[in-house]
Amino acid sequence: MDGKALAQRIRAEVKDEAARLGGLGLATILVGDDPASETYIRLKHKAAQEAGIRSNDLRLPSETTEEEVLERIAALNIDDEVDGILVQLPLPDHLDEARVIGAVEPAKDVDGIHPLNAGRLYLGRPTLVPATPVAIIALLDEYDIELEGAKAVVVGRSDIVGKPVAHLLLQRHATVTICHSRTRDLTRETLDADVLVVAVGRSWLVTADMVKHGATVIDVGMNRSEAGVVGDVDPAAMEVAGHMTPVPGGVGPMTIACLLRNTVLAAGLRRKALAFPAS
Ligand code: NAP
Repeated sequence: MDGKALAQRIRAEVKDEAARLGGLGLATILVGDDPASETYIRLKHKAAQEAGIRSNDLRLPSETTEEEVLERIAALNIDDEVDGILVQLPLPDHLDEARVIGAVEPAKDVDGIHPLNAGRLYLGRPTLVPATPVAIIALLDEYDIELEGAKAVVVGRSDIVGKPVAHLLLQRHATVTICHSRTRDLTRETLDADVLVVAVGRSWLVTADMVKHGATVIDVGMNRSEAGVVGDVDPAAMEVAGHMTPVPGGVGPMTIACLLRNTVLAAGLRRKALAFPAS
């Protein structure tokens, strides 16, 4: 499943929409100097600029106090030039992640992780949804993967990927199982999956013999190794799967494109120029 090609199309649509809305602004906050976070932030800003979105890259030293971070967020919340705010996670240990995320204005929460947006998602109401789960559903739709009545297994239960994608699959009438580190027999669960989403952060945790013949496999993992970035699923599983996303070139580029699309949506909703798309 070619995430790069679909991402390019979405980014072109975002560029048109951004121009139609008369310019958009995305602000990111990075606290500290985690190299992986710096890479993600750089890629997001590059993509935003290419789509004609103004981007404000706020970098704060790792020793920044929680009060200062909250003050910066409060300023962005009321800045009319800013349509989307993204706090890059993880935060340094002395910062209370829940408090920081909860301080972002929900209408500008393009990461979809404010409790109000997460709650709306879990109630099945339209809302800003984290970009990676949106990207996964867009890829499944692009390849016409039947979700209604399908058995979907999600491995990983993070707030940013596992839980929200499970809810989106449920909204699409899949029968959803969520697995995690205490799941007793992971292989028994994964072998049952028509659609298998793996978001764990362990290189090649899922091997070819854990995949049902003809299943659709979405590999969210991005693990740094000596061989470069590798996924959570052994690429040998492509021989067994009907469809599978590669790493790199699958979910990664789609996540960035969907973050930009969330920024367009947030701007359009705030300016009352757009409505939530039908799910
Ligand atoms: P996370 O917050 O670390 O969550 C990992 C999840 O995997 C947890 O729910 C954990 O279970 C579960 N897990 C750990 N070991 C397991 C095992 N042996 N068997 C079954 N489940 C296990 O990770 P995340 O933020 O969701 O990210 C997951 C991966 O996706 C990472 O590689 C990350 O870099 C990547 N990612 C990629 C993109 C992209 O754009 N491509 C976006 C986001 C994340 P417990 O809850 O029980 O601990």
